[in-house]
Amino acid sequence: MAAEWTLVVRLQFDKSDQPNFSMTKGKVFLVGAGPGDPGLVTCRAKELIASADVIVYDYLVHPELLAWCRADCEKIYVGKRPQRHARPQDEIEALLIARAEAGLRVVRLKGGDPFVFGRGGEEARRLAADGIPFEIVPGVTAALAAAACAGIPLTQRNTSSALIFLTGHEDPQTHALATDWRRYGALPDATLAIYMGMGHLRLILSELMAGGLPPATPAAVVQWASLGRQRSVAGSAATLADLADSRQLDAPAVILVGQVVRGHEKVNWFERLPLFGRRILVTRTREQAGDLRRKLELLGAEALELPLVEIRPAADPETTLEIFAELGRYDWLVFTSANGVRHFFDLFLKGFRDLRALGVMRIACVGEATARLVRALHLEVELCPEGGTAEELAEAMITSGSLDHAKVLVITGNLNRDTLVKKLETARAIVDTFQVYENVRTDLAGSSAAEDFRQSGADAVLFASSSAVQAFAAQAGLLQPTAGVKRPLAGSIGPRTSEAMRKAGIRVEFEAKESNIDALVDALVERLNAH
Ligand code: SAH
Repeated sequence: MAAEWTLVVRLQFDKSDQPNFSMTKGKVFLVGAGPGDPGLVTCRAKELIASADVIVYDYLVHPELLAWCRADCEKIYVGKRPQRHARPQDEIEALLIARAEAGLRVVRLKGGDPFVFGRGGEEARRLAADGIPFEIVPGVTAALAAAACAGIPLTQRNTSSALIFLTGHEDPQTHALATDWRRYGALPDATLAIYMGMGHLRLILSELMAGGLPPATPAAVVQWASLGRQRSVAGSAATLADLADSRQLDAPAVILVGQVVRGHEKVNWFERLPLFGRRILVTRTREQAGDLRRKLELLGAEALELPLVEIRPAADPETTLEIFAELGRYDWLVFTSANGVRHFFDLFLKGFRDLRALGVMRIACVGEATARLVRALHLEVELCPEGGTAEELAEAMITSGSLDHAKVLVITGNLNRDTLVKKLETARAIVDTFQVYENVRTDLAGSSAAEDFRQSGADAVLFASSSAVQAFAAQAGLLQPTAGVKRPLAGSIGPRTSEAMRKAGIRVEFEAKESNIDALVDALVERLNAH
């Protein structure tokens, strides 16, 4: 009964969740992707990304947003970089229309807000003219993020009663500045938020001053607002261009001019986060890196993702059939990793569809993260010792006194050590292992993350598994930072990973107190802030 009921609810949910597109035309969603930090997009944007058939996106869209889409979603990059237009605007518009006419749900992701200097207006007009259904979802525009993340209120009682968004871009027809800056220099109670102005910063400021802006007016540049690589500098209309030059601040940046900039350093919370300005190299698999990267970003760091290993399903079909046929005979089911839980249940549910087919065996896990995944399936974890190592789990199982002639199924990958199995066998358990996944090394030749690391270095590199350490060491040649860039301090999630690091000749600069991601991040913060 319960299973049927679930099925009915699912079907109804699916129906309401996926609007009916049996009509000939699809729909285009012009969606604001926010200023950079994935936490700053709207709930509507996230919902639409998750259900899109096609995503058409720009240069400044954070890669994390693309990870939210369905595996079969088509992703089309149409980004423009300064001076390099990847695709002409009418081609982009034609693309949106063609996909929508094919009946698809097209999400057009645009940095910031689609209607603020984003040509979203042109796209919407073209869709309207062609009779294509569309929806517009606003986003946090760059000036708002720059203000929030540099501690600069955009308006202020008594001094700043107007806020003007301006573009510093030049007019492509005349190659002259598109804005009459002198006019805006004569508005003492306005805050100016200037987009795309870095190429002409000096000229813009001098034109503003020529129009009457007092040279002492406070002004700031905020580059890469809301991201770990944010940089900002503040001075006055007279000094800002030199300051920006000396700090090498460039696009993408917002220039803020007005009384509101005064005193911003007192409320500049973002740039005081414990890992602000730090570049951290994350070596986990793409599926596992997200959580760690987010934790680092929320502490202000810039996380570089370098997936060194990839986890792939790898169960032998015959063994799978044999084990599943005998599943009821096991007393214990042991998971040694979160990957094991994922891949075991993927296989299991393909075969049985109903979790109850698992029977009444007891479940033991190595590591809290592994146990959490099992509990998320509403299955009880009987044993999961705190230290998070396979040895401790073996000890705990032995101490529980239930192993004599017990049948134990240990779920593994291709790199598991056999310590656990040996210990259990010594305690007279009958142990079968079932390999459900494998670690495969990623080839770093041509990886843009590896290139970024070589060119700019990092403050630290984090290892969360010995397989990542080995993959790192094996491709060390491709990971040599260029002379003069920051060399990273290497940190480890626990004793086993540290041991692998030492073997590979990598000095362990810090180690997590417990084998989990939070403790690894704590150790990193402590180590970097100690110097
Ligand atoms: N539609 C976008 C603006 C696109 S124009 C929005 O609403 O934000 C591109 C310009 O936006 C850049 O040249 C820069 O001036 C600004 N910009 C975009 N993202 C930014 C960021 N994270 N930090 C600072 N400026 C940013």
